[in-house]
Amino acid sequence: MGATAAAAQKGGMDCDIAVIGAGPAGLSFARALAGSGLDVLVVERAPEAALADPAFDGREIALTHRSQGILEELDAWSRIPANEMSPLWQARVQDGASPFVLDFAPGGERPLGMLVPNHLIRRALFDAVREAGCARLLAGCAVASVETLPRGGMLRLADGRTIAARLVVAADTRFSEARRQMGIAARMRDFGKSMLVARVAHDRPHGGVATEWFGRGQTVAMLPLNGTLSSIVLTLPPRQIEALMAASPEDFGAEATRRTAGRWGAMRLVGSRHAYPLVATYAQRFVGTRFALIGDAAVGMHPVTAHGFNFGLAGAQRLSAEIRSALARRRDIADPGGLLRYEMAHRRATFPLFTATNAIASLYTDDRAPARLVRGAVLRLGSALGPVRRLVTAQLMEASPA
Ligand SMILES: Cc1cc2nc3c(=O)[nH]c(=O)nc-3n(C[C@H](O)[C@H](O)[C@H](O)COP(=O)(O)OP(=O)(O)OC[C@H]3O[C@@H](n4cnc5c(N)ncnc54)[C@H](O)[C@@H]3O)c2cc1C
Repeated sequence: MGATAAAAQKGGMDCDIAVIGAGPAGLSFARALAGSGLDVLVVERAPEAALADPAFDGREIALTHRSQGILEELDAWSRIPANEMSPLWQARVQDGASPFVLDFAPGGERPLGMLVPNHLIRRALFDAVREAGCARLLAGCAVASVETLPRGGMLRLADGRTIAARLVVAADTRFSEARRQMGIAARMRDFGKSMLVARVAHDRPHGGVATEWFGRGQTVAMLPLNGTLSSIVLTLPPRQIEALMAASPEDFGAEATRRTAGRWGAMRLVGSRHAYPLVATYAQRFVGTRFALIGDAAVGMHPVTAHGFNFGLAGAQRLSAEIRSALARRRDIADPGGLLRYEMAHRRATFPLFTATNAIASLYTDDRAPARLVRGAVLRLGSALGPVRRLVTAQLMEASPA
């Protein structure tokens, strides 16, 4: 990445803002500060080659219209090949063999959202940051410790070097070490399950419909990709996920066909499988002295409502806007008032859906009789109540309900 004029003058590793983690949240935050004149240094544990050309990681990210707009502003959207974006026209929730189905369909010409592979979002953001020359990158180097005082922050790297910064921003995953070192507690919800994601080809068309199917002892989501490809998302106890990860491609295809009851026809595995533990996290505070959390380090969503990165992008925008506003008013970029405004706005925007998502995930992965009764009733009510469906659809599209 190119060095800003300020960085070149300063030299060394000290900077205005040190960002821990060059994941999608860290990179979008760095890009959102382009043109601010601030010297931003992004420190990432993975080597630069893995950031410039990230490997497929199985995640197909459902991006809302608002997120697409933010990625356009960040000059990242046009860098994602159009044939890799799959429109999501309808979302359907089904409980076991129940005839009641909850459908979310906007109608009209705009899809609910767009499915985009995570590794291509990462690559696009990396290229956008590199081309804008808005941040320096220190890759292949882990941050070992973080400390901040009213007069400045200090990172110690695993190789013993140190970095002084006016503001430290941690975007270092939902299990953020920086968060712990800053003494910030996080609410953690371990669902005791893992999620396997993989691309499958199938015989029957998906019609652009995403299906979330809550069966006995398993949850299956099918996310429609271009052609007759889907991303299958299986939520199961970790031991069963391990067995599916180890199965031959042929056995995996047969098992995927069986678990989806042949509804999409015979399935064949396409490419690699990836497993993720299901743990949702929510930081008790998003800011501290000369310190802020963004991305999953602030809010680590359960993927069922597909909002983790959408929130990460919105948070990066919010924090960068506060920093720009402080600059415009000739205030300190780590002004506690600005950091607190970021925290309050981001909490307001994320906490209701974080709580609702955990409740949905718990209800729909509980096979005891009372839970089955409640979710059956929810689906029956939902399919009877048009306004509820319209409201949820509008939420998904981040527009006002008609
Ligand atoms: C299966 C699955 C499906 C999902 N689907 C959706 C979806 O449809 N829609 C949606 O909006 N979201 C979705 N998400 C969530 C989304 O993927 C995450 O919210 C997003 O990737 C988080 O980005 P991040 O930059 O905060 O963290 P990460 O992507 O975890 O990146 C953190 C970076 O920090 C680096 N790092 C960590 N520690 C250190 C250290 N000490 N020093 C230096 N570097 C460090 C790591 O190497 C990494 O590069 C999904 C997630 C999963 C698992």
